Amino acid sequence: MMKRMGKKYALLTIAAVLFVTALAGLNFSEHASGKEKPRQPIIIQGPMPIEAENFAKRLDNVKVEKSGNFVFYKGKLDNYPVIVAKTGKGMENTAAATAVAIEKYDPAAIINQGTSGGHDPSLNVFDIVLGKRTVNLGSLKTPHLEENEGIEPTSWIPMDLMASEGSAGEDPNAEKARYFEGDEELLAAAHAVKDKYTKGKVVEGTIGSADVWNNEVDRINWFHENFGTSVEEMEGASAAQISKAYDVAFLGIRVLSNNKTNGGKYDPTTAAANQDYVYEVVKEYIAEKQGK
Ligand code: SAH
Repeated sequence: MMKRMGKKYALLTIAAVLFVTALAGLNFSEHASGKEKPRQPIIIQGPMPIEAENFAKRLDNVKVEKSGNFVFYKGKLDNYPVIVAKTGKGMENTAAATAVAIEKYDPAAIINQGTSGGHDPSLNVFDIVLGKRTVNLGSLKTPHLEENEGIEPTSWIPMDLMASEGSAGEDPNAEKARYFEGDEELLAAAHAVKDKYTKGKVVEGTIGSADVWNNEVDRINWFHENFGTSVEEMEGASAAQISKAYDVAFLGIRVLSNNKTNGGKYDPTTAAANQDYVYEVVKEYIAEKQGK
């Protein structure tokens, strides 16, 4: 009996070795024929048509794909795969569009870009903020107040939904803002082409996001002081959070289209200017990637 089993195992082992050898051979012949792994695309997100279509027009060989509300313009820039994603506005659209894009296209990096409102009075309409950090401004916990004690927004506490898997409302460790760091290589590429942008200055800063458009200057100042925000918009932190969940390199790049803190009036033409700059950033990033 033992002998028969032994023979059976020996045959199985030989079969397994042959199988593995055959696989290795296959792999080898694929390399030998020059077939490489497909290159991971770079994804450029824009919420509104004016924030995505300008960039999409500049890609070569564009193929349009749709998933839900999201439109993906798949093309090439300097012969490297780049996908412009029109995500729609707001945190939910952006989170979903980011997850769908990562699952569908396996990107090397994601840039979330578009317009924003200034929180820093030293920044003017047309200036650009590179998101060294991105933070969710809608993630808040209110202290306890009894009925008829009113509403005290300036006492609201930041809440980190990623702090633990337990209750964020009860966990004292969750009483802090969660900052998502911008990717170092994307930041370096953005710095390298700063001088190509002539409509304003390009600075590093903190991008704050929520499904809220703040027009109360005291509230804007409160975020600026307590969260260190340079600008606000409605998407960046959501894309940053999902990119981090999948460990994909991420950077937010936002032009000021308005700034309540210094009287900067809304100018929608800033959206196109930002895309022109982001185009240079992506070119530089591709050149750096391919130079490696
Ligand atoms: N329906 C609104 C517009 C909301 S959408 C209205 O007309 O008032 C605003 C878009 O512009 C979002 O995609 C957001 O990212 C960006 N944005 C520009 N300036 C903003 C600001 N000051 N606050 C919030 N979002 C801003």
